[in-house]
Formats: sequence, structure tokens, C-alpha cells
Amino acid sequence: MARLFLKPGKERSLQRRHPWVFAGSVDRLEGRARPGDTVEVLSDDGRLLGRGAWSPASQIRTRMWSFDPATVIDHAFFKRMVSSSVARRAWHPWLAQQDGVRLIHGESDGLPGVIADRFGAVVVLQLTSAGAERWREAIVAALVQATGCAAVYERSDSDVRGLEGLEPRSGCLHGELPDGPLWITENGVRLEVDVVAGHKTGFYLDQRDNRLLTGQLARDRSVLNCFCYTGGFSLQALAGGARSVLSIDSSAPALEGARRNLAHNPQLDCGRAEWQQADVFEALRALRAEERAFDLIVLDPPKFAPSAAHAERAARAYKDINLFGFRLLAPGGILMTYSCSGGVGLELFQKIVAGAASDAGVDARILHRLGAAPDHPIGLAAPEGEYLKGLAVAVG
Ligand code: SAH
Repeated sequence: MARLFLKPGKERSLQRRHPWVFAGSVDRLEGRARPGDTVEVLSDDGRLLGRGAWSPASQIRTRMWSFDPATVIDHAFFKRMVSSSVARRAWHPWLAQQDGVRLIHGESDGLPGVIADRFGAVVVLQLTSAGAERWREAIVAALVQATGCAAVYERSDSDVRGLEGLEPRSGCLHGELPDGPLWITENGVRLEVDVVAGHKTGFYLDQRDNRLLTGQLARDRSVLNCFCYTGGFSLQALAGGARSVLSIDSSAPALEGARRNLAHNPQLDCGRAEWQQADVFEALRALRAEERAFDLIVLDPPKFAPSAAHAERAARAYKDINLFGFRLLAPGGILMTYSCSGGVGLELFQKIVAGAASDAGVDARILHRLGAAPDHPIGLAAPEGEYLKGLAVAVG
């Protein structure tokens, strides 16, 4: 096995169990390793710190599989890691009964570059690192064994694979997808999941608890749901007794999915729902010009800042939509506003939202600080994994 020696002092973050070795920390690689091969990681004075996956194309030159010098990285390792990750979900009362649940959340579950979402009997797998790619077969076998799933479908078509020198890949890795669409029930609402062509792995599971909270706050309120995708927040708002729900997204297929979702929930009053295909930045201005007002507004935009380098431009975009959000709130209204940008931390996000409230001339207070559901844990040693942050802010 090749041995990666760190520069002096560069072992400190690994000793805190942070799983990444950046290119700038590497002194030399002794021996030969292909992308994804397991390497021993050593301090400059030769102490073995653990084992990780070598990724020469990436700025993150190695992602650690283990910090225990005694741990061997083999099929049995992946079997253990996958089964304990799945068991953590089975144990949690908010997750155990869900049809749609994230089973493996990458670094936070000790499996860098591995994402696995279960939708009923189908597991969708996304591999985004050279190490994960190398162990694909072991990971699939472990998932099948831990879940008894009928199919594993790969959706490794995320852009971030390019940073690891990997091509996009998708298709069935085990079993077959069922004929026809896949449906899950999330807190009483039926939702279609298009694992083949939907965004990411097909559905945004991370917002599950926040969608439920939105439903609980929506009774008798007029709701505006911006960036609605397939209507997850909209349907929970209707289930919670919203008076009306206007949902906006720029994607026609997403809105078609949203309409199908509504049609499959006959308990919901479809007369209260309105769907609009538009750019949210323009739509918010138009609503303002029409002097519309809403009691509850959800802003769940896509990632404006994939990394800290994009933070400034992203900050302007967040400021813009939140400013218009506040301007469109009726007195006593609530803004539920999110950022899923890794490059914008909670502190900065809260500052942006505060700036927007102040520019809109409203008095505002935070009711809830929100984050991803517990099947998207945050590694304490790698807090940058906290990508989703949200604020429920009341005005007036
Ligand atoms: N809230 C959704 C997830 C939102 S994902 C849920 O709970 O499932 C972000 C969505 O924003 C995507 O559906 C994408 O099509 C849409 N989108 C991206 N840029 C947009 C823009 N400028 N205007 C309107 N929609 C946009």
C-alpha cells in the first residue's frame, strides 16, 4: 500500500478527525497508487494516522476512510459502515417510518463521497469521490444486504465528480426499477419521485421536517412558495389548511410533477393551489407591483454559492429575494427562508436576512432556526457539512 506523508504540522486536522487531506498538506507519496486506491496517511515523523482514498485529480488529495491505524479497508469495512449508517436511521423515531430517507450522508456518516437515499424499495446511490467510485461494488452489496431493497439505481451525475476526475454515470446497479413512477408518503402527503430524471437523487429529503413545520404554520394563511420544485412545501401547506398556495418554479417538468402530486392527494383542495412557471426574481417584483401580500412565504432557492469563492454574488441574490420576501409579507406574516449553499454560513446568512428586513423597514424576529432533517447529520469534526440553514422569521 502506498504511503502518503504529510508536511510538518499538517497532521493536526486529521487528529481532530477532519476527513480531508488537501493538496497543500501533502509532502510526498511513497509507492504507487491509482485514483481511489487506499493509502496509509502518515505524519512527517512517520506516525500512521489512518487510511484514506487517494485522489490525484482533486484538491482534496485524500479522503479518510478511518482514523484507526488498525482498521483495514476492505469489503467487511463497507459492510460495517453501511449497516451502522442504516441502523442509525432505523433507530430514530422521526425516520424509522419514512418511505423516503437518506441512508448515507457522505463524510458525516464516515463514508466520504457516498450518498444513498431510499425511496420505498429503491435505493438511489450517488458516488462523488474517487474512493467511493473504487468501492462501488462493495457499497452496493452492503446496501442490498442492509436494506433488502429491490433495486439500487446510480445517479452519479453531479458536477462535483468532475473535480475528482470522474465521468458522470447513471443506471441500475442491482435489480430493476419498478414499472411506472415511484411514490413515497411524507407526513401524510403522497409524492412522486423520479429517480431517473429528477433533481439530485430524485427528491429533496433534507427539507422533510421543515415542510411539516410549514404545514403546521399554514392554517388559514395565504402562502407563497418560491422555488417549489415538485410542490413538497405547497402540499404540506395545503394539508395544514392553507387558504391559498401560490407556487413558483422556473422548471416546467418540476411543475408538471407538482400538479401530478396534487392530483394524487385527493384529500387536498386543489382549488386552493396555483402554479406559476417563472423566474422567482422577476415574479417577486411582479407580485410587488400588483401589491399582493402573503401571510407565509417560503424561499428555498437552489445553491447560489457552491463554495466560499461565490459567497459575494450569492449574498446579493439572497439579499434580493429576502428583501422582496419581506416586502410581500402581510402584517403578522412569517418568512421561511433557506440557504443550501456550503459557501454561505449561518452567521452570514442571518446577517443577509437581517439586512433585507432592515431595508424592507420591517420589525422581525426569528421563531425557528432550521436545518436539514436528522438523516442528514453533521459531523462534529467537519462542521462545513452543515450546508442547509433556514430561518423562520415573523414580522409585525
Ligand atoms: N423546495 C423544494 C426544493 C427546491 S430546489 C422542495 O422542497 O422539494 C430549487 C428549485 O428552484 C428547483 O426546482 C429549480 O427548478 C428552481 N429554480 C432555480 N432557479 C430558479 C429561478 N431563478 N426561478 C425559479 N425557480 C428556480
